Amino acid sequence: MAFRFLVQTFGCQMNVHDSDRMDGVLRAAGGTPVPTAEEADLIVLNTCSVREKAEQKLRSEVGKLAPLKRARPELVLAVAGCVAQQEGEKLLERVRHLDLVIGPDNIAELPALVMEQLAGGPPTARTVFDVAAPRFLTAAPAPGRAPPVALVTTMKGCDERCSFCIVPTTRGPERYRSARDVVDEVRRFVDAGSREVLLLGQTVDSFRDPALPPPGSDDPDETQFPHLLRAIARDVPALARLRYTSPHPRHATASLAQAHADLDVLARHVHLPVQSGSDRVLRRMIRRYTRAEYVARARRLAAARPGMTLSTDVIVGFPGETDDDFEQTLSLVREVGFVALFGFKYSPRPSTPALRLGDDVSDPQKSERLARLFEVVDAQGAAHLATLVGTRQRVLVEGASKSEKGDGPATRVQGRTDRNEIVHVEAEGAAEALVGHLVDVEIVRAHRHSLLGRATGPLPPAGPRARRSLPLVAPSAE
Ligand code: SF4
Repeated sequence: MAFRFLVQTFGCQMNVHDSDRMDGVLRAAGGTPVPTAEEADLIVLNTCSVREKAEQKLRSEVGKLAPLKRARPELVLAVAGCVAQQEGEKLLERVRHLDLVIGPDNIAELPALVMEQLAGGPPTARTVFDVAAPRFLTAAPAPGRAPPVALVTTMKGCDERCSFCIVPTTRGPERYRSARDVVDEVRRFVDAGSREVLLLGQTVDSFRDPALPPPGSDDPDETQFPHLLRAIARDVPALARLRYTSPHPRHATASLAQAHADLDVLARHVHLPVQSGSDRVLRRMIRRYTRAEYVARARRLAAARPGMTLSTDVIVGFPGETDDDFEQTLSLVREVGFVALFGFKYSPRPSTPALRLGDDVSDPQKSERLARLFEVVDAQGAAHLATLVGTRQRVLVEGASKSEKGDGPATRVQGRTDRNEIVHVEAEGAAEALVGHLVDVEIVRAHRHSLLGRATGPLPPAGPRARRSLPLVAPSAE
């Protein structure tokens, strides 16, 4: 049955990846993507519940679609992702104009469920974890149509159970793909034109694959993730850049740092979520490392390659966080020298252990701490960017520059360096042709969060490219 669909994505890169897979299964079932809700027979809202704000946004988006559903009762309205998994059937009871609720592990069943709905079936919720037989939907990009940066999942779920986090509830226990499957998907993307791969996992560095050699280490936190990185580098030599997100600091082991030292393909940037600089708060968060351990691991990673940079996630206003605890977080941010940071106010999430601790830091206090945190990291980030003016950088161009205005031929595109710095690239009359290419750029100006550069050297010939523009580093599921 032919139908038109729209998938709207909220939240992290894992959701971007899941939306890509939904797009794939819906197209294979006869669906055609459309750009607006008005044109669609099916609208899927792929949701995030990691923070209260994200969940509120989803509720407001669902509310906005109510008039459309009233005007066109045959329109199928679906909620997928973490809110779907968290709420299940209850969501159908609460939002009467909703037809379908589908969990992250049930994407393969989406076409069949949509067909039932298009045929007038009753509202349905499908939110079953595939713990016994994990399924990982893989991409089959057509030659020349792969995005410059491909997202490849390595695992799903999380066994950590940090006290503030809903992910173990919404994404289930850890399950891994085989290294062979991951390497094969990376190769398919690269063969189809992708230059960079971003490996995804809730704790991407906890990777285990029985088919890989054992880590051979006394360190109980050692995993097979460094082996996976080496396997990709060895078996897909045409890959230009390899990144991963988000590692858990516990598994940022000596062999991971050694992989960074040995493998040129690995980006010189790691996003290593810390959440707090206070041992007291880290204990209450159940992060399973101390401040000193985090700093030692971050330093080891930073020392692995010249010019390596780090970014992080921080939660302010965790229950019981005192002024002194927060000062320790600020001092850690200075000590490690992060160049970017995602900061969030703590918000109580359902089914999390931290609910028992209350929410005793006032919202104005949280706002003030967040502002101070950004002040420190923005200054560090800006100082770092300023050092790059006058240097030459290699930029993977991903698409039109967000700063580009007007309908004429693009004169600016944007991309990233291997350290994840955003660079707006000027190339008079030829900017479009740069998309999907690694381009040598001279940096002429530093902005607050990005750089401006001019392409140097020969420009590549124009050709069709698929695009995806990613945020600098998406906040992890933390
Ligand atoms: S914060 Fe990260 S490591 Fe902790 S439970 Fe959530 S997903 Fe797992």
